[in-house]
Amino acid sequence: MAGLTNSSGKKPGLATLAIHVGSEPDPITGAVIPPLSMSTTFKQQEIGVSTYEYSRSNNPTRESFEKCLAALENGKHGFAFSSGSAGTATILNSLPKASHIISINDVYGGTYRYFTKVAVGMGITVDFLELAHADELSEKVIPGVTKLVWIESPTNPTLKLANISKISEAAHKLGLLVVVDNTFMSPAFQTPLDLGADIVIHSVTKYLNGHSDVVMGAVVTSNDEFAERLRFLQNAIGAIPSPFDCYQALRGLKTLSLRMKQHGENALAVAKALENSPYVEKVIYPGLESHPQHQLAKSQMKGFGGMVSFYIKGDLETARLFFKNVKYFTLAESLGGVESLAEIPSLMTHGSVSAADREKLGISDTLIRLSVGIEDTEDLVEDVLNALKLSQV
Ligand SMILES: *Cc1c(COP(=O)(O)O)cnc(C)c1O
Repeated sequence: MAGLTNSSGKKPGLATLAIHVGSEPDPITGAVIPPLSMSTTFKQQEIGVSTYEYSRSNNPTRESFEKCLAALENGKHGFAFSSGSAGTATILNSLPKASHIISINDVYGGTYRYFTKVAVGMGITVDFLELAHADELSEKVIPGVTKLVWIESPTNPTLKLANISKISEAAHKLGLLVVVDNTFMSPAFQTPLDLGADIVIHSVTKYLNGHSDVVMGAVVTSNDEFAERLRFLQNAIGAIPSPFDCYQALRGLKTLSLRMKQHGENALAVAKALENSPYVEKVIYPGLESHPQHQLAKSQMKGFGGMVSFYIKGDLETARLFFKNVKYFTLAESLGGVESLAEIPSLMTHGSVSAADREKLGISDTLIRLSVGIEDTEDLVEDVLNALKLSQV
């Protein structure tokens, strides 16, 4: 039902799509929520005649999730994977041997690891660029060998933006496909395919599932040729999620719109409170006027997300005390769940990035990353301000 339309012919909004696409009442029982389909194999009416055959190739519950997410991203084809990283690996496997790709420089750590430690085994080389200006592409492109541009916007944890439409335009002139990791924004706040990108990838583990209880990934595209290759590889490599995880993630999608609104509202309130605190050096949040790319954020995003990074005044010890004194922000990696989390990238999520690269990216021991959840706004603001005060000894 990717072509779901209102009576007026208009495309429905995100919340409507999320609740209806892939969740049509069961034609036999009338169940409003389609049943979880655990079967690994399906009866064939005659030899070779059936919609589903074997659950690695396709499964009704997985297909429901894939259709729903594709509709939310305004794409034609959706593919689910056992993790975001499995999605990355499968995309990289679609490239001819010894291809070259261009990636934004502070890409997600696991993506960086796959590019530099695994894809090299397939002879793939990667250039990591700032991508602040689209003409960086033409300087690095190797005609016939460069195939992909890999973007994340905003980046993690320094929340830098890439201009998706400008980069896509430049990339297409050079014959390259553009992949956008849309994990931090979700389709509620950013739809890269509408901005000209060819492929969107997600760690469904984060905002899409939204409840910190599923590890899963997904890829969406409107490019038929790429979709055909990916469908083949999804089955041939087999890094697929379980039907149960797809069921959970589809349930998560239904509240995506509401959750993202609250994540955004809470994050902005926390960011503003931090900005006014005497115990904070600097706050990074695309929704603040002080963010150097606030205008770009307003033009390519519908919201600013739930991730806030800030430099606490003091040193590592001050940061430790902050984590000790927050009540509702759990010290943990990951992000995008309903509950608030806090972490220190230099020692946790970005611990494997070299000290030199961390310094270049601004990931110091006083940089704290918050995944602002959907608890009551005033409770989170009070919690952060109280912990800041108690961290000053
Ligand atoms: C978590 C994450 C990934 C990797 O996804 P997994 O589901 O953990 O494999 C990729 N990109 C971003 C931006 C992420 O936050």
